[in-house]
Amino acid sequence: MTESPPRTPYTTNNAGVPVESDEHSLTVGSDGPILLQDHYLIEKMAQFNRERVPERVVHAKGAGAYGIFEVINDVSQFTRADLFQPGRRTEMLARFSTVAGEQGSPDTWRDPRGFALKFYTEHGNYDLVGNNTPVFFVRDTIKFQDFIRSQKRHPATGLRSNDMQWDFWTLSPESAHMVTWLMGDRGIPKTYRHMNGYGSHTYMWINGGGERFWVKYHFKTDQGIDFLTQAEADELAGADADKHRRDLWESIESGNAPSWTLKVQIMPFEDAADYRFNPFDLTKVWPHGDYPLIDVGRMTLDKNPEDYFIHIEQAAFEPSNMVPGIGPSPDKMLLGRLFSYPDTHRYRIGPNYAQLPPNRARSQVNSYAKDGPMRYEPANAARPYAPNSYGGPAADFQQFGDPAGWAAAGELVREAYKLHAEDDDWGQPGTMVRKVLDDAARERLVSNVGGHLLEGVTKPVLDRALEYWRTIDKDIGDRIAKKVNGG
Ligand code: NDP
Repeated sequence: MTESPPRTPYTTNNAGVPVESDEHSLTVGSDGPILLQDHYLIEKMAQFNRERVPERVVHAKGAGAYGIFEVINDVSQFTRADLFQPGRRTEMLARFSTVAGEQGSPDTWRDPRGFALKFYTEHGNYDLVGNNTPVFFVRDTIKFQDFIRSQKRHPATGLRSNDMQWDFWTLSPESAHMVTWLMGDRGIPKTYRHMNGYGSHTYMWINGGGERFWVKYHFKTDQGIDFLTQAEADELAGADADKHRRDLWESIESGNAPSWTLKVQIMPFEDAADYRFNPFDLTKVWPHGDYPLIDVGRMTLDKNPEDYFIHIEQAAFEPSNMVPGIGPSPDKMLLGRLFSYPDTHRYRIGPNYAQLPPNRARSQVNSYAKDGPMRYEPANAARPYAPNSYGGPAADFQQFGDPAGWAAAGELVREAYKLHAEDDDWGQPGTMVRKVLDDAARERLVSNVGGHLLEGVTKPVLDRALEYWRTIDKDIGDRIAKKVNGG
């Protein structure tokens, strides 16, 4: 048997037993059959076959890094959450991602970007799982699965289909605000560092006196907003499909740590009932003129993961991880996500996913959970049930109890949100087109939408799409129609 010269360290199998060869299977004579007793070869093949966990159904392709969140302004009158108290510095993890593409898909496809954050607070993990958009395509969680399927691959062809996308969007007018946003410049950020992040949903904040407030989170990029044109993005999709993952890694590695400033909008609890827009509708923003931005803190990402799979692929963000001082709102998308995220993690990486390095709380964990596949930390309780007489943990409502939510009563119904005075699906996208975009950005919007519609969108969906845009803004709709009709 010929072998390479000895090297240090020596190779072992997974049990630490030194192996005899990195290069040759055990055979009967040099040309003979391979033996089942070559347990190291069997271990290598079996481990390899199991290397992949299922990819996330959405947000499969991503990149992430560790960092720090520092409070820069006193907002303790609005929340008692540990991480937002004056002077606090909290370690954190961020993961950015595209939504519809698979693991190997290009970073520069037009798509919203996930903006998922995990803060390792004194009172457990706080996960804020948002996007780079302040709004979303649908407002009821029962439509989410349909929406995502319309963005994924056609069952017959295995291809993505603009016709499916516009079919769903034009039959779901609540999508108009988000589609306008997506088709504009911010639909393809230059890098993950050059985009804002938003909590998107409305959340509740509770202060030390038990007072409740509604809150929206805005993480403004300190690198400045920048974007790619459709042509630039198309070229990069071929030339460097991992452009955004590479950029994040390389800038942190070279000491150029990206940062974002967290600002919030705060709405007094009582304002929600008759605010001019339904404040819990995920397709709407709160105009800044009504609720101005208030500085809170700064997050800086300065540490790349040591192992991408362990720290980013196995990272499990869940909007249900809310710490004392923070709670949900009646947003029907948020309420669905509170169930859906932990459920998908249990399926994707197993019921003990909270013990994995990126997900493990850095404060005490005194849960009564026990056993299950791949568990390796002992149950923390002296007895595996509560209450018990042997010093096991006991819930402390005095210290951690918050007002649980809001008043709700009524018949069980399947109904849309109650409309507020200025609620409609077209007003806010129309404002964006007419008041926020400049002439050049409007021209790029026309070009982006026209180009998208020309790639496989057929009647009657095409007619509905043109009508959809004319309803958002007559002029923009006419210009898109002209482009589609070869004008
Ligand atoms: P403001 O003039 O106070 O704010 C306009 C907002 O639009 C800013 O947050 C700005 O972000 C953002 N913006 C600028 N260019 C684009 C673009 N190409 N695509 C997406 N967003 C962009 O107005 P209002 O608060 O009254 O909101 C007016 C409209 O602006 C809304 O209908 C909505 O469509 C859009 N918008 C509003 C947001 C909000 O939370 N109020 C957030 C984002 C968009 P920046 O300051 O970072 O450049």
